[in-house]
Amino acid sequence: MNTLPAMLAIHGGAGTILRQSTSAGAEQAYLQALQDILRAGEALLAQGSSALDVVEACVRLLEEDERFNAGRGAVYTADGTHELDASIMEGHTRRAGAVAGLRTTRNPVRAARAVMESSGHVMLIGAAADAFAAAQGLEQVSPDWFGTPERLAQLRRVQGEGGAAVLDHDGARRQALIRQDGPLDERQKFGTVGAVALDAQGRLAAATSTGGMTNKKPGRVGDSPLLGAGCYADETVAVSCTGTGEAFMRSLAAHEVSAQMRHLGRGLREACEDVVGVHLPAVGGQGGMIAVSRQGELCLPFNTEGMYRGWVRLGEAPEARIFR
Ligand code: ASP
Repeated sequence: MNTLPAMLAIHGGAGTILRQSTSAGAEQAYLQALQDILRAGEALLAQGSSALDVVEACVRLLEEDERFNAGRGAVYTADGTHELDASIMEGHTRRAGAVAGLRTTRNPVRAARAVMESSGHVMLIGAAADAFAAAQGLEQVSPDWFGTPERLAQLRRVQGEGGAAVLDHDGARRQALIRQDGPLDERQKFGTVGAVALDAQGRLAAATSTGGMTNKKPGRVGDSPLLGAGCYADETVAVSCTGTGEAFMRSLAAHEVSAQMRHLGRGLREACEDVVGVHLPAVGGQGGMIAVSRQGELCLPFNTEGMYRGWVRLGEAPEARIFR
């Protein structure tokens, strides 16, 4: 039996601070949303839920909050549709499930869990993945249910500027591009959500979910559903990432943290800071990650100006932060 306290961390994306339009009220609303989800996760940990159940529950709550780019509130593809990606992984068993390009499954993280437990595979994509989720009894919604007027305005403005595929972060010149009701600039923010947890039995788990990037090519898959890139858990560490997906894929960012700890004997902080501060920037990667180790350490580094993030140790009050 593990004697370390159970703990949990979540993120709602990394990005650039939108100073000119950040109201104290908007900042507080984001922090409150993160704390509420942490409290829900902490309650599950307190009643002995597994790390796997806790990360799934927290990511599902983040998917349901339309402020975050996952589930409802997901960004649009160039075709004006939504394609959702998610993954989940359990450390001590290394069981994992992932989905990409979902269009009708309300909670992609639940579909990822179903793939893990009931498909005999690790990853399913597209319409067949939605059909599998439906057959598993997971709620299906109309493809336009994920959209919001703010996200549609974001797409139209990006397309009005030339129609290039644009990452959330890649819009420094695009003033007034999209809604500006959050502390992080939606034009320069990676809105993926994620959770990592260590439970009372010392089990680790990680989950990540995203709508991807605004105006992405239909069919584009980012790092979030790719195990080892945007999500990873083993016996050493659990990691969930957010940022420029292609760079996280080329760096195998989440797995690199584990590799450095296991092969170089690095501590969690040293490994995370090397990946976020050295490995990712070397290939132009911007963003951050949340990580929890088997030893009960937490690390939430980012190389952007801010990252929506929070953490809680069982029995303690949740902490949420946006800026450094
Ligand atoms: N990493 C995600 C992707 O590339 C984007 C994000 O973090 O918001 O799909």
